[in-house]
Amino acid sequence: MNIHEYQAKALLRSHGVPVSAGRVILRAEEAKAAAGELDGPLWVVKAQIHAGGRGKGRFREPEAGEKGGVRLARSVGEAADEALRMLGRTLVTHQTGPAGKQVNRVYVEEGSDIARELYLALLIDRKTSRISFVCSTEGGMDIEDVAARTPGKILTFSVDPATGIQGFHGRRIAFALGLEGKQVKQCVDLVTRLYRLFVERDAEMVEINPLIVTPAGDLKCLDAKMGFDNNALYRQPDILSLRDETEEDPKELAASRFDLNYIALDGEIGCMVNGAGLAMATMDIIKLYGAEPANFLDVGGGATKEKVTEAFKIITSDPNVKGILVNIFGGIMRCDIIAEGVLAAVREVGLKVPLVVRLEGTNVELGKQIIRDSGLNVIAADNLSDAAAKVVKAVKG
Ligand code: GDP
Ligand code: MG
Repeated sequence: MNIHEYQAKALLRSHGVPVSAGRVILRAEEAKAAAGELDGPLWVVKAQIHAGGRGKGRFREPEAGEKGGVRLARSVGEAADEALRMLGRTLVTHQTGPAGKQVNRVYVEEGSDIARELYLALLIDRKTSRISFVCSTEGGMDIEDVAARTPGKILTFSVDPATGIQGFHGRRIAFALGLEGKQVKQCVDLVTRLYRLFVERDAEMVEINPLIVTPAGDLKCLDAKMGFDNNALYRQPDILSLRDETEEDPKELAASRFDLNYIALDGEIGCMVNGAGLAMATMDIIKLYGAEPANFLDVGGGATKEKVTEAFKIITSDPNVKGILVNIFGGIMRCDIIAEGVLAAVREVGLKVPLVVRLEGTNVELGKQIIRDSGLNVIAADNLSDAAAKVVKAVKG
């Protein structure tokens, strides 16, 4: 689960990490008062969406003006005006996709003067099974370019969980970032606090870009992106309360309500599968036969008729889906029950695209018979290759 920048900064503040004072605006009427509570002479007005690249982004509507989703203002009035230009408008960045995202919240912050822009992130490194710090002297808006063109300028330090965070981690990072004097101590403090926040809050990713050095020589977090482990949210109620469902894919949101593991992708073949391994194999074989999966969907081992129906609704609500492949292994569940579930779902939701069903496992013959006898236009398949070939042929001709 991801959270907004202003929420991430509140968390940083509560963990003693330096950030600017700011106010979030949800309604136009609040803009002036919110900006008025902050000190000048510089204010920063920032669109709050769950996507980065806002500074370089552009709004769809001309009323929002030519500038991006991060704007500087020189007076309270100007800050409020900029906030009003952004609220309700659609911001397109390289992370939102061409459709962009509607800005429903705007954050106004006391502006900082910047001497240097650095990059600092924490993430879970699957290779080492450790939390790693990633840092670079080349912070700011072009970190993706830095990673692509001069990867040597991005350095990684991992933390051994047996010892936890130590002073030398912070000093190494400070050295890598070219910090000196009092900044080294500040960096050690920052790195220690970020690591504790990461572990205590079950974070998956924390990205500070830019981490700045002010003209007075102090470190401060000017931007913050945070993601949390969904499987740990049950023990992080205050993190869960920060969830903004309007930022999530509506199909993924519906899936989470019914406990379906669903990830939207951009291909044309909708997949309904039980078991994550089988779902991965199904996506692979669709690609092998020359098409692309429209989603990853694991209905789980104990899928009920209701779950199968909901899964169908989610798949068919995706306009990109030109064919559906149901690939179910009847282990805990019997194939005849699954067949009944699939048919009930098709009857309820309707079927406008070809549907290929491949069943295997307990009572498979009975399951296939039920599908054959249904009179519905369902293409039966015998094995994984046959299923993939049939659905790709049905879609591509
Ligand atoms: P992003 O584009 O979504 O990553 O948004 P950021 O919060 O990182 O802002 C983009 C850029 O705006 C930063 O890299 C800074 O250069 C600039 N910026 C953000 N806050 C301030 C500020 O307080 N003062 C100044 N001078 N620039 C800022
Ligand atoms: Mg940024």
